[in-house]
Amino acid sequence: MQPPLTASTTYRGRFAPTPSGPLHFGSLVTAVASWLEARSHQGQWLVRMEDLDPPREAPGAADHILHTLEAFGLTWDGSVMYQSQRHAAYQQQLDQLIQAGHAYPCSCSRKALEGHHRYPGWCRSAPQHPDQPLAWRLRVDDQVSVQWQDQVQGPQCWPLQQAGDVVIRRKDQLWAYQLAVVVDDLKQGMTHILRGIDLIDSTPWQIWLQVCMGRANSDAPAFQYAHLPVIVNAVGQKLSKQNLAPALDTARISSLLMLALQALGQQPDPALQQETPETLLHEAIHFWQLDKVPAVAAISETDLKPCISIA
Ligand SMILES: [Zn+2]
Repeated sequence: MQPPLTASTTYRGRFAPTPSGPLHFGSLVTAVASWLEARSHQGQWLVRMEDLDPPREAPGAADHILHTLEAFGLTWDGSVMYQSQRHAAYQQQLDQLIQAGHAYPCSCSRKALEGHHRYPGWCRSAPQHPDQPLAWRLRVDDQVSVQWQDQVQGPQCWPLQQAGDVVIRRKDQLWAYQLAVVVDDLKQGMTHILRGIDLIDSTPWQIWLQVCMGRANSDAPAFQYAHLPVIVNAVGQKLSKQNLAPALDTARISSLLMLALQALGQQPDPALQQETPETLLHEAIHFWQLDKVPAVAAISETDLKPCISIA
């Protein structure tokens, strides 16, 4: 149940990168939006490392990300949370979900599920092959649709039956993103979640988890959500490490911040490009408006025009 923001309720937002490599322009856009939205509400902005999947992580990437955020003037509050240190909290929550009948063991292999766009529910009453390694799935209510008013994309209504039951603990004993993110957002007292629209398919499961934990209703999530357009390259692929998006160039910080603001529908004074990142962002707090962010799924980086240098 979302409490109204009052003078006594501090806005809390976060940036939660996976340390699989250096930040790229797409991650900068998300970080800038959530930082400005928090700061323009005199709120707090926290950083959380989503380091749950060691094989996907690059050595030193977490520190590199933090140094990059600092170089871009994106200062955070409090200490950084590392999901790799949160196993006990996730286990405790999983145990509660199992006891309440919200989670069940699933033996299905990836191969058996090939061609199914959602989990067909084969293990709902009992695992088909109990002697095989078991994952844990969240049982969704097929009769329920979750609803939220997305601050960028508008009203949303998602039938859980179309989402299906999602893995919350993997067969290899790694924690799945869906459980960890909800446990941590609740633990850290988040009020607002701003993130890329590539994660919007996960939001119905995350709201349902909040419902199962007794922290929300299906039409009143625990957080306000805003799903931002993602940045795509010239051939329409989302910027990502897999698509070889280049690391942020710390030799042109202010011009990259200007491009990020442009991608987010803001109209910064071109003269700001001459300022330090700290001054540029401080000025941006005053003109930042979340409702100017285009309600689209993707923005092409090739459509962004660098400011002409007036130096
Ligand atoms: Zn199964």
